[in-house]
Amino acid sequence: GWLEGYAALITGGGSGIGRAVAERFLAEGASVTVLGRDRSRLEEVVDSAADRSRIHTVTGDVRDSDTLHTAVQETVDRFGKLDTLVANAGVWDYQRQLTRLTADELDTAFDEVFSVNVKGYLLAAEAAWRELVKTRGSIVMTLSNASFYVNGGGPLYTASKHACLGLMRELAYELAPKVRVNGVACGGMNTDLRGPRSLSLADRSIAASFARRGPDTPPPPIPLHDSSTDPRDFTGPYVLLASRAQSGPVTGHAINADGGIGVRGFAHAAGGDHL
Ligand code: NAD
Repeated sequence: GWLEGYAALITGGGSGIGRAVAERFLAEGASVTVLGRDRSRLEEVVDSAADRSRIHTVTGDVRDSDTLHTAVQETVDRFGKLDTLVANAGVWDYQRQLTRLTADELDTAFDEVFSVNVKGYLLAAEAAWRELVKTRGSIVMTLSNASFYVNGGGPLYTASKHACLGLMRELAYELAPKVRVNGVACGGMNTDLRGPRSLSLADRSIAASFARRGPDTPPPPIPLHDSSTDPRDFTGPYVLLASRAQSGPVTGHAINADGGIGVRGFAHAAGGDHL
């Protein structure tokens, strides 16, 4: 495997792309700590692993720095080091546009979306950088089409994912030359992505939104694929960026694995024609 002997920590690895990356890293020879907030899901990931000696789980919230420090420490205790941090746990905003948000909703949902999506990445990087310096390791952040383009979310999600792009670039500068920091800007994937509790969207899953699409629903404007794509199809760039041998000189870079959203051209010029 490409990651033989690596030790990785993946946040939000109980489902979706985080779980797919955990399974891919295991298959590539790495040992993996999976952090998530739902213990039963983490147990499922362990149960499905072929070699349980190379997987460890930590239950907790990425908004809590102590949890992240514990996850880093337990990774080092268990696997001897940390080579790769995959900062990944996040929530979507179900494309709730500004014109459909009250001031009160904005106030609370901003704090929730930014604290999970942005502060969660920053706190994970803070907890991990000392160990990553020791191994000349790297950070791979799950970014999004919404890190580059509009309408992959509402203002909260789009701003949060643009912020993650800035965070990736800033940390690539601050941690060079010892630690590389890159991102994978995923496009629509069939995962269990949830919304903010503060907008009563915590129990809604993006998978249900995809499932509701009928045979007559036009496909989403993604050149290469339907948005119901299996997250396992998106794991290759994570392996590439984690591997020193494959991407040693690459830092501060995002690989757009979004089915070509950036080359789709114009669909509708304005989103507010109905206002
Ligand atoms: P997912 O919900 O299946 O995975 C996210 C995981 O993070 C879940 O297991 C969830 O329980 C966990 N999590 C959420 N908040 C947490 C918290 N505060 N503390 C600890 N764990 C928490 O969804 P996913 O689509 O795999 O999302 C992973 C990343 O991919 C997110 O950053 C998301 O923004 C990004 N992304 C998703 C899509 C998509 O279409 N699904 C597209 C682009 C980017």
